[in-house]
Amino acid sequence: MSMAVAAKGEGPAIGIDLGTTYSCVGVWQHGRVEIITNDQGNRITPSYVAFTNTGRLIGDAAKNQVSTNPFNTVFDAKRLIGRRFSDVNVKNDMKLWPFEVRGVGDKPMIMINYKNEKKQFAAEEISAMVLNKMREIAEAYIGSTVKNVVITVPAYFNDLQRQATKDAGVIAGMNVIRIINEPTAAAIAYGLDREGTNIAGKNVLIFDLGGGTFDVSLLKIEEGIFEVKAIAGDTHLGGEDFDNRMVNYFVQEFRKKHEKDISNNPTALRRLRTSCERAKRTLSSTTQTTIEIDSLFEGIDFHSTITRAKFEEINLDLFSKCMEPVKQCLRDAKMDKSIVDDVVLVGGSTRIPKVQQLLQDLFDGKELCKSINPDEAVAYGASIQAVILNGEENIEKVQDLLLLDVTPFSLGAERFDGEMKVVVPRNTTIPTKKEKDVTNVEAGQVCMEFKVYEGESRVAKDNRFLGIFELKGIRPGQRETAQVTLCFEIDANGIMVVSAKDKSTRKRSQITLTNNHKGRLSQEEIEKMIKKAERYKLEDRENKKKMEAKLALKHYASNTMDTVSNISNLNEVDKTKIVDAVETVMRWLDKNENKLAECENYENEMRKLENLCNSMWPKMN
Ligand code: AMP
Repeated sequence: MSMAVAAKGEGPAIGIDLGTTYSCVGVWQHGRVEIITNDQGNRITPSYVAFTNTGRLIGDAAKNQVSTNPFNTVFDAKRLIGRRFSDVNVKNDMKLWPFEVRGVGDKPMIMINYKNEKKQFAAEEISAMVLNKMREIAEAYIGSTVKNVVITVPAYFNDLQRQATKDAGVIAGMNVIRIINEPTAAAIAYGLDREGTNIAGKNVLIFDLGGGTFDVSLLKIEEGIFEVKAIAGDTHLGGEDFDNRMVNYFVQEFRKKHEKDISNNPTALRRLRTSCERAKRTLSSTTQTTIEIDSLFEGIDFHSTITRAKFEEINLDLFSKCMEPVKQCLRDAKMDKSIVDDVVLVGGSTRIPKVQQLLQDLFDGKELCKSINPDEAVAYGASIQAVILNGEENIEKVQDLLLLDVTPFSLGAERFDGEMKVVVPRNTTIPTKKEKDVTNVEAGQVCMEFKVYEGESRVAKDNRFLGIFELKGIRPGQRETAQVTLCFEIDANGIMVVSAKDKSTRKRSQITLTNNHKGRLSQEEIEKMIKKAERYKLEDRENKKKMEAKLALKHYASNTMDTVSNISNLNEVDKTKIVDAVETVMRWLDKNENKLAECENYENEMRKLENLCNSMWPKMN
């Protein structure tokens, strides 16, 4: 759904693919999309946030320390965002997470121990931290502040999940100019990539196989409108499952070779898993690779090889399983595979040759769209959408890409018999205004109640309740004599006004549906979270300064120690004085290894040491 409007003069707008395991950011520059590398030189950044004794870590730094800090490292926030604690998906996912999630009301909250204090975070806040990191990556590259952003979400996200994602952007202090579907973004990326071809009137299948999730979407693109025809997938299928298969394979091999079972040793398994993931990637471009892990278990070095054929054999059932949602999508959309114009690959796991081959075979040998890096296609498309919405002019290439939004769900009101009366069908292009006539079901009725829902179920109550309003002052009469017009109007920003008007009395009543979903954060909560996020940002900055002061002191102390031990023209008494002072500082640093002191403390210690040394150096000359 459309969101806020981009204000001009707020710098370039960026596109962020906020992924379950990794995120990616891009910007339109010099006539093309630039996918931006982070401070570690990586084009994708783990969607991880860690809370340690010394501060907060986001991205690679957080993921790298997960095994030593499992309870306070958060990932998978996307699996929680916009969901209720009572949701079965949340209950099931919780079993797999080392971090604790509790229901506060019906909102899932992530419980963290941060600097010896219990803290709780909503998924929106964790996602806000990841978004902020992505923004910082972009700002470092672009060299100016960035405010406007397009964020992508899976096609199956409901309004609540979309709104919560938008809230995450707001908490991060950004202006979310639009939330778009991931498959739409991937299709946009390819639409633009192929020079000279018109993307109008096409059926595009997006095959998105990532680290832990699998989504297939069938889109119809016509005159700039991206219509989601069908979606299917598996919320827990992806690269990590293929890694696990390889881990099990080597656990068995280790057992055969050394008659030892490593399956109960988490450290050995973790090291093996890291190697397997690397081997898996290598096998996408070579037919054989080696695994070499020194002292894997009880001092035994583990060296082995695996061929691509073996890797395919141990995963074949999973790879084949990936074809089912494709067939399901085609069935749901009642579309023959022969009229699918493009098959687009998204997600790192689509680099696996066997997956590509099975998919290509399914489409009778059709060439797959894979010229854009599959990890980056979504951020690529989001960046194009961002530049269009930001109104940056004279960008010829994107001018023809008129992007219109559609309502992701049908909208309507409950009828007297409990059925859903659909007023705005799913996939209607917005802005839109639709009307339906309704009447009184009882004689003498002077008031009508309208309950507004969104969803595809025939029974209104099974859909998502959005709001309720009344129309009073209807002229009493016989049954079915009142003439009332029920009107749904949605503007370009996705804000909906539902009204009812009695034609004879001209009485009118309405409700505006924007921000009033149950389960969504209130404006007040969002404000509080913005303040909290700003506080954490400041704290991070402070921590960085403290860390620098600490490192400076550490370096100075060890350099002094080196210098003193190499100096010959300093008498033993003075030497001892310096060595003692340095050792005192080192002990103090060691004692506080896991926490940070104030900057002044480090600076004071440094000054004391410097003064002492400065008073000694003249004696040496
Ligand atoms: P995504 O979530 O889309 O970034 O995908 C990440 C997944 O893709 C991880 O499971 C990676 O191990 C997997 N992946 C990345 N590169 C390759 C590759 N060259 N071959 C096979 N799998 C890969």
